[in-house]
Amino acid sequence: MGGFNQAALLEAIRLGAGTCTRADLARKTGLSAQTVTNAVRRLLDEGLVTEEDVKRQPGAGRPGTTLDIVPASRFAVGVHLDPASVVVVLLDLAGQVVATRSAPTPESEEPGAALDVVVREIEAVLEAAGVERERVLGVGLATPGPIDRDRGLVLDPPHLTTWHDVPLRDEVARRTGLPTLLDKDVLAVAAAVVWFPGVRPTDAAVVYAGTGVAIGIVSGGEIVRGVSGNAGEAGHVNVGRPFGRCACGRQGCLGGVFSANAIHANAVERGIPLRGGAADAGSTATLRADRAVDELRVLAEAGDADVVAFLGETGAALGSALTTVCELLDLDTVVPSGPVWERLGPWLEPGLRSVLDAYPLPGHHPLRVLSAAGDGPVAAVGAACLLLDDVLTPRPTGLLLRV
Ligand SMILES: [Zn+2]
Repeated sequence: MGGFNQAALLEAIRLGAGTCTRADLARKTGLSAQTVTNAVRRLLDEGLVTEEDVKRQPGAGRPGTTLDIVPASRFAVGVHLDPASVVVVLLDLAGQVVATRSAPTPESEEPGAALDVVVREIEAVLEAAGVERERVLGVGLATPGPIDRDRGLVLDPPHLTTWHDVPLRDEVARRTGLPTLLDKDVLAVAAAVVWFPGVRPTDAAVVYAGTGVAIGIVSGGEIVRGVSGNAGEAGHVNVGRPFGRCACGRQGCLGGVFSANAIHANAVERGIPLRGGAADAGSTATLRADRAVDELRVLAEAGDADVVAFLGETGAALGSALTTVCELLDLDTVVPSGPVWERLGPWLEPGLRSVLDAYPLPGHHPLRVLSAAGDGPVAAVGAACLLLDDVLTPRPTGLLLRV
């Protein structure tokens, strides 16, 4: 996308949200006025930015122009594939969701069936939006871990039991003809947290809870990926109390407390009556857990005291796990997200906040709870943000497989 300087300017213009003058850009990027002028000219020529005259304010010196991005100049596809569903979004350059589609993840043994759905839904979303293909920068794929980021493989996720070393990135790139990258779903959510203008926390723990649970870390404004791209596994982080039953056999693991499956199992254990969450012919554990989360929301909305208490304790257990992480890394923000939080957040948050507020952090700063940025399905939106970030943000290296 035209080199480091151009990318740096485009990012400053995007984050300035229509307020940046050329002088602002020179100050923000440290580039010379002449370099700014040349690079802005190229961005204008490519249709990525637009320029608007600003009226002279009394005493504000000579009039100038402000720059803003052109949202419809480029697009990115974001895909979130998890055991329950395939969600595809198309984002414009401003991060607005232009089109979205979703389909159930096939229960077939073969990963190929899920791959077919991913490719079909990408094509459908592009067709629905009527966007010219050359304006599409590529596809960001988000899946549960573990992955091999460099080789674009989904290794062997615990809730996709037939998946082993699936070359998802290369297959999607080959079949769509679009540049493609692969990352973990929780890190995609973290990408959305840092990509959107606005609050943009620099040091945050990002929780994604769906079929499983993971905690992505943003430190110094950068997503922590670790040595193999698999940072964020949080299933066995201790919640400091005997709660739930983890797949590892122990009590007190976050994975045994804060995922759709765990919440379903713990609710049943406590005698909360969940009709739709019961086993029936043709339903998988993933689908039953998903229905159980819906039922818990209905019960909580109706003021069921047992359910409200149970969700409060669940939120508090999440809080305990997060205080450990926040203390260790000196974070000031937690961002819960994902299908569990989206539906049960109002009843989980009081317990979460009570633990965070009472925790004596060494820096004596408060821990705030933020919602994930952007509209729409957060992991798919985040996957598109990863792609935009990789293509547009001034960094020496990226993750992208270019076709
Ligand atoms: Zn465990």
